[in-house]
Amino acid sequence: MSLTSPRLRAVLLAATSAGLIAAAVPAPEPLGIGDPLFPHLGNPGYDVLAYDIAFTYTGDNRKPLDALTKIDARATDRLERINLDFAYGTVRSVTVDGRPADFAGTQEDLVVLPERPVDAGSRLSIAVTHTSDPVAAGAKSGWVRTSDGLAMANQADAAHRVFPCNDHPADKAHFTFRLTAPKDLVAVANGRSVAHTATGPAATWTYRGAEPMATELAQVSIGRSAVVRRTGPHGLPLRDVVPAADRELMEPWLRRTPDHLRWMEDKVGRYPFETYGLLVADAATGFELETQTLSLFERGLFTRPDLPGWHVESIMVHELAHHWFGNSVTPRTWSDLWINEGHATWYEALYAEETGGVPLERRMRDAYAASDRWRAAGGPPAAPRPPAPDDRMSLFRPVVYDGSALVLYALRQEIGATAFGELQRRWVTDHAHATAGTTDFVRLASAVAGRDLTGFLHGWLHGERTPPMPGHPDWRSGAPSDGKPA
Ligand SMILES: [Zn+2]
Repeated sequence: MSLTSPRLRAVLLAATSAGLIAAAVPAPEPLGIGDPLFPHLGNPGYDVLAYDIAFTYTGDNRKPLDALTKIDARATDRLERINLDFAYGTVRSVTVDGRPADFAGTQEDLVVLPERPVDAGSRLSIAVTHTSDPVAAGAKSGWVRTSDGLAMANQADAAHRVFPCNDHPADKAHFTFRLTAPKDLVAVANGRSVAHTATGPAATWTYRGAEPMATELAQVSIGRSAVVRRTGPHGLPLRDVVPAADRELMEPWLRRTPDHLRWMEDKVGRYPFETYGLLVADAATGFELETQTLSLFERGLFTRPDLPGWHVESIMVHELAHHWFGNSVTPRTWSDLWINEGHATWYEALYAEETGGVPLERRMRDAYAASDRWRAAGGPPAAPRPPAPDDRMSLFRPVVYDGSALVLYALRQEIGATAFGELQRRWVTDHAHATAGTTDFVRLASAVAGRDLTGFLHGWLHGERTPPMPGHPDWRSGAPSDGKPA
């Protein structure tokens, strides 16, 4: 990002000159909210209420998009400057409450200097005119270039490589996307369509989510797509977005979603959003992602002859399960990721057991055998080691998937299936559309079980070694001398 603001350029120059009369305003610096894994993610002093983001796409997915990001927020502190997370785009102008504001980029923060300080408790409205570059963000993701356009994959820390934001799941907000693209393309985003207008060669699609969303779960798809609609349980509108040429090929998978929804609702209760669907992207992402109301899947998952159908469906169920665990109930810090992935893996494994005949107990026994090694490599489930600086995806290690589903299995063994089922339902009800962390989970588990589980869960969540498995005293973990397979 280039420095284009004369006032802040002067501040920066002042800060680098020794012995200068103390500059009234210190140099811009990146701030964070103290996330143990991503210290510069999120920003203190305000709470975002709503984002309204407009992208204009030229039709060439190598070119930057023009963008206008409007942020409505409430100041929680007096703010002389406002830090947003943003990188890899060019900022053209910033206004605060309609008045031009100075700004500067520092590392992955955009620091905004309003004309006058913002009082604690007051509402503020920030508008950033910028570009959003799908090429510069590159392998760090954010934008994903597909064969026919773009999709988005922001987890964990890449939303701010697409748009300026308070890029932390602890600050959920309402989202509106306004997508302008050549009108022979189709643009879709999270939530439901609220407007579609066409003028000349371009069209604009507007989408709004009914529920708050974490920045990491934003989704925008632009391409030669077919939008496939059907109805799910209780009349829930379902909407899949697939490459237009693949509509028939994908149909056998897409039509499974209503059954997956019924299956999940039977386990944990009503689906918490206003719509659901699959976004099938012709891109090699190497992952699927639970983007809110429109989960991202790579096309190749559905065309591999080597994968049995129940396996593919169990992955579909994994992303769907995240809509309760991770999307509706959002982690307070990234160290709480085990709650998202542990539960999504749990329902994936249960679905595989019920439909593919793969016993959950066998999968958990194998996870137990590997668990000590996973903990040694990635840290315990609730205190994972930070990801490698050059590979943020390295946070997504086995210990947060099967290694964390194993914690849930241990808990079910300890408190019984009835209390465990009650805990699952209470968790997604008590914290619906809010933020919750590990201590909340331990507290609720104790309340449901009717006894303090802090000691029991501490070893499972924070121990370097895997505790003994209740009901399976013969299970062993870790050392190769155990003779257990990896
Ligand atoms: Zn997952």
